Amino acid sequence: MTQNSPQPAPSPAAPRTIYTESMEIFHRAADAMNLDSRLRLELEEPDYEHIFYVTAKLKDRLIPVSPEDAAGLGDLSVTKVRDPGGLERLFDGKIILNGRALLGSDVSIKEGYLRLDNGQVYRLVPGGTQRFKAYRVQHNQARGPYKGGIRYHQAVSLDLFKSLAAEMTWKTAIADVPFGGGKGGIQIDPRQFGKEELQAISLRFMYKLKQLIGPSIDIPAPDVGTTPEIMALFLRQFSDGERERHNARGVITGKDVRIGGSEGRAKATGQGVAFTIEDYFADRNETLRGKTFIVQGFGNVGSWAALILQNMGAKLVAVNDADGTLVNMNGIDAAELMRYTHENPQNLKRSVLGFPGAEVLARSDFWEIPADFAVPAALGSEITASVAEKLKVKLVAEGANGPTTPEGDRVLERRKIDVIPDIICNAGGVTVSYYEWIQNKRMEAWTEKDVDARLEIALKKNYRIIRDIARNTPRRTEMHDSRDYVIGKPVDTRCAAMVLALKRIEAHYNLEGFSQ
Ligand code: NAD
Repeated sequence: MTQNSPQPAPSPAAPRTIYTESMEIFHRAADAMNLDSRLRLELEEPDYEHIFYVTAKLKDRLIPVSPEDAAGLGDLSVTKVRDPGGLERLFDGKIILNGRALLGSDVSIKEGYLRLDNGQVYRLVPGGTQRFKAYRVQHNQARGPYKGGIRYHQAVSLDLFKSLAAEMTWKTAIADVPFGGGKGGIQIDPRQFGKEELQAISLRFMYKLKQLIGPSIDIPAPDVGTTPEIMALFLRQFSDGERERHNARGVITGKDVRIGGSEGRAKATGQGVAFTIEDYFADRNETLRGKTFIVQGFGNVGSWAALILQNMGAKLVAVNDADGTLVNMNGIDAAELMRYTHENPQNLKRSVLGFPGAEVLARSDFWEIPADFAVPAALGSEITASVAEKLKVKLVAEGANGPTTPEGDRVLERRKIDVIPDIICNAGGVTVSYYEWIQNKRMEAWTEKDVDARLEIALKKNYRIIRDIARNTPRRTEMHDSRDYVIGKPVDTRCAAMVLALKRIEAHYNLEGFSQ
């Protein structure tokens, strides 16, 4: 264009959303590899976006009232509950009344309040009905059925699920499993509900979702706020009464091993995080022995990653979850912390807070703890530019989905802090989900050793291809072959991971063409 040629009118800036932010890397990689424009349009938006609603009847609950509010109720006598097992205590002191907890009890209610034998006064709130917003986004299925987790969380939206579904498309391609990408869930804070309420909500959710999914169509799995128990309910709701219901076992992955889940699935994402970190250091002729690390999020991914890294010789020095932050530069025992957090019936919040083997730290100081590497394993967009400026680590291994914002990424690059991008780092979960799906199809059960061995090869092989793309060094070794994927110039690791995903998806469109 000459200096005098008319300039195109600037288009009004599209609003920045979680989705547009998460797609920045897609566009960067698409530009770098000169992706076909039609394929770019296909992948830029999901195939389908489903929004639906789930209603459920809630139980009566007891809400604790403050001593000031209970001041006028001094003469309220104690209600002796006949069946204390019917009282389900939530993390914040509320109590769900399951079954007929109060039936047959000696109940004293005054103006809607009652007192339990711990002396606490509660407001009795009758269970009403509630409506929840639910989602399933199916992003792309060029390489196989849509695949992706079900999240129960209060801060979900269509925009968020679009980004998570797209991320699954990239991740399944990188892990080279024959799936596409999907994601969904319910806008709900599961900690505010009792077990039976969550069961009812989950069954109703699957009743509505059923027509959109199937073992060869779309395969959900657990994500934040959902568990193998919920996957079992999903499976039953999907398959009950079907003539060939055992052929449907693979419609859900992340199941308990006793009902067709895979050995090694529960820890698979954390295991994969550990394998990629191990390979990062192996590439530098180093091992994990003596390396220090910090973990954000001590749920499924964070706790397993911490435990496995510890077993490989590394030392956990700080941990942060939704409720607290802990530090111990001499090392926090990940096995003890896991027991304290996840196997402790007193710890209703399943929080690291209160663990005796470490000191409490201000949340704002967590990212400044010096260590060899950091594993964000909580929610997205945690490593912002300002967090990235603070970090005192050499490597960020992304256990969570999308934990680094684009601005954060630029700061990491400027500060020469390496990244193992989420789409390879946390691909262990979906890879073992694929193993579970194959085992279900074949009615087989593999050993944990077998699963781990396959997973290690799958992740390390693809991580090596990504490093070769980044360094522009096409190679064929006994383990991997990157010759079809390098693009003739070096790129950063995140871009390289996306190039690998897009090249694998592109092959389907190039060879199979577009359906007309
Ligand atoms: P989880 O619900 O088991 O644990 C989430 C953890 O994050 C909890 O410890 C919680 O306290 C913590 N957390 C929540 N909000 C926080 C905040 N504001 N600050 C600090 N900590 C906070 O979830 P999970 O399955 O471990 O998933 C964690 C991340 O990994 C998510 O981004 C998820 O999408 C991703 N992921 C999970 C899997 C899997 O197999 N579970 C696979 C791939 C990616």
